[in-house]
Parts: sequence; C-alpha cells; structure tokens
Amino acid sequence: MTNKTTSPISSLTRANISNLKPYASARSEFSGEASIFLDANENSLGSPIETDYSRYPDPMQWKLKAEIAKVKGMPATHQFIGNGSDEIIDIIIRVFCEPGRDNFLMFPPTFDLYEIWGKVNGVEVRKVSLLPDFQLDMEHIPNYIDEHTKIIFLCSPNNPTGACLNREDVETILTHFEGIVVVDEAYINFAQQHSFIKELTAYPNLIVLQTLSKAWGLAGLRIGIAFASEEIIHYLNIVKPPYNMSDAAINLGIEALQQVDLVNERIKILVESRKKLERELIQLPLVINIYPSDSNFLLVKFQDADRVYQYLLENGIVVRSRSKVPLCEGCLRITVGTEDENNTLITTLKNFKSE
Ligand SMILES: *Cc1c(COP(=O)(O)O)cnc(C)c1O
Repeated sequence: MTNKTTSPISSLTRANISNLKPYASARSEFSGEASIFLDANENSLGSPIETDYSRYPDPMQWKLKAEIAKVKGMPATHQFIGNGSDEIIDIIIRVFCEPGRDNFLMFPPTFDLYEIWGKVNGVEVRKVSLLPDFQLDMEHIPNYIDEHTKIIFLCSPNNPTGACLNREDVETILTHFEGIVVVDEAYINFAQQHSFIKELTAYPNLIVLQTLSKAWGLAGLRIGIAFASEEIIHYLNIVKPPYNMSDAAINLGIEALQQVDLVNERIKILVESRKKLERELIQLPLVINIYPSDSNFLLVKFQDADRVYQYLLENGIVVRSRSKVPLCEGCLRITVGTEDENNTLITTLKNFKSE
C-alpha cells in the first residue's frame, strides 16, 4: 500500500454511473402545496386494507433518516437507507466495480454475502484469509491490491467469528488504501469498541454499514443504513431502485427508533445472557473452545461438531454449522436466545451422548 494522494471519489466510480442523474419522479421535482395528485398512476380509491398504502413512498426516506440522525448523531445527508444492508452491499459493488475488470478484497471467515454479490455482478473477489486469531493479515494484504482493487470489505464485529477487528489495523487500511473501505458494523451495538461513524470526517473513502436487523430486532422489516460522505451517498442514490423502502417499513422503523431506551436495555440483557451462556457452555466436556465475542452470538468449537449439530436439530434447535469453513473447523455458531431458549440449549447439550 502506497501513501495516498487523496483520490476523489468520482474517479473511483464506474464511468456509466458517474454520468447518470438519480431517477426523478414528478413528485420529487415538485415543491409546494397540492391536493390532487394525478401524476403517478396510483389508485385514487385507496387500498383494500385498513391502512392506506395507495401512494408511493418517499424515495429518499427523509423522515426515517431524521429519526436515525437523532439516534446515531449523523445528519440525514450522510445516510443511505437500503432494503437491508444486503441491498446496500450490492449497490456499493455496482457503483464502484466494473464487471470483468475491477476487484474487491474480503477476509474470510466472514459474511458470505460480499462474495455472492461480487459473483452476481461479475466482479473478481479476492479473499485474504484472516490469521488464526481472526485478525487481519496486515503483512500480506498489500500483495492482493492492484490498480483495479476498488473496495475493501471489513466486518467488525466479524460474522461468524464474533470479535472486532483491531482498530489500528482498520485505521491503517483507511489511511493507506486508495479505494473505498466498507466497515460492516451489523453487530456494533453489542461491542466494546465504538463505531467508525465518528471517523467519517477523517476518511472520505469510508462507508460504515449498520442495520436495524440485529440490536434493533427488526430483521423482518429490512432496514439497513450506510453512513458516508455526501458524495458517496449521491452515487448510491443513483443506483438504488427509486422506491426501495416501503412505507410500512419506513413508518415502523420510525416508531422503533423512538424506543432507544428499551433497545439499549435489551442490548444489555443480551450481552449478559451471552456471558452466562459462555460460562455454561465452557463447562461441557464436548466444548473445546469458545471464541471471544462482541456480538449476539458465540462461535463454539465442539468435539464432533457435525453430530452435535444433527442432535440439536433432532431436538428442534437450529444453530449455524460453520464446521467446514476454514479456520472454523469443528465450530457451530450459536445465537444468544431468550433465557428459556438458552437453558433448553444447555440442558439438551448436557444430554448429548458421545460414543
Ligand atoms: C446480519 C448481517 C447483515 C445483514 O443485515 P440486513 O440489514 O438484515 O441485510 C450484514 N452484515 C453482517 C455481517 C451480518 O451478519
């Protein structure tokens, strides 16, 4: 990695994207008072259900962004909202990576979706394995970067390993890499480390990804958020489907964001439950190791992980097997459940008969 000569974001975007303007509906071009809207071919008789959803939603989701701004301390102009952060990952790749030419870096074992979206988009995915302690291999990463490397995806706290990446390593990458650095913080509310949101002013190439799916308990609504410079947000808006968030999701998201105290309480409960679950699991003879976690799940190394996995399934308990994933051999990823669910899990595991 060479020291960077602040490369403007526009030079990183695909040429076909940088020349486009965001899709404009008649309504977004109009500002003023009107009472009759005959511009969008909506159904003026309304919806066949109680709540009226007959009108198209706000393509920019300004009201939802205003609530997010209150909670996160980042103004609406620095936010992009996606139908889950899943959608945002795809959009980021499509803004910056020219199919068949560009590439991006990711660091397995990590979230599989970066790779899937890369392949869907015909973009080369370069994988640099984490070290056995699940930290970045800083010495070798530069060997994988060339002039067509547009994005580096970092996941911290990482899924499925559970812990945060070393902050200094992330900062080193942000300082030296000339492309876009995405820090996926899906689990940040469960972590000791603070968010990289505060570093956005220092690093114009940074995108911080968050979601309401985990700590906020809204996975079914599909609300993901990217925080970035206004210039990056501009390009994401060009590529997104115009009405990518439904009014139902927007309104329920707003309602949820007004419950920040309740959510913070639940985060504390989940972190305490995780610690308790860890203490109980480590006492079981079939548990070899539990990796440190900054999230709402534990990566647990079992004796005979595949049989334990099947046994749990037979008892109606679904966990995630990572036993074939390099560096996670023999591991199951277990989400922290309710007190009752965790107790049932422990009791069930105690009754496991290893032959
Ligand atoms: C769960 C998860 C997400 C997906 O979040 P959605 O907003 O529900 O799409 C993103 N990144 C990581 C690492 C996750 O584990």
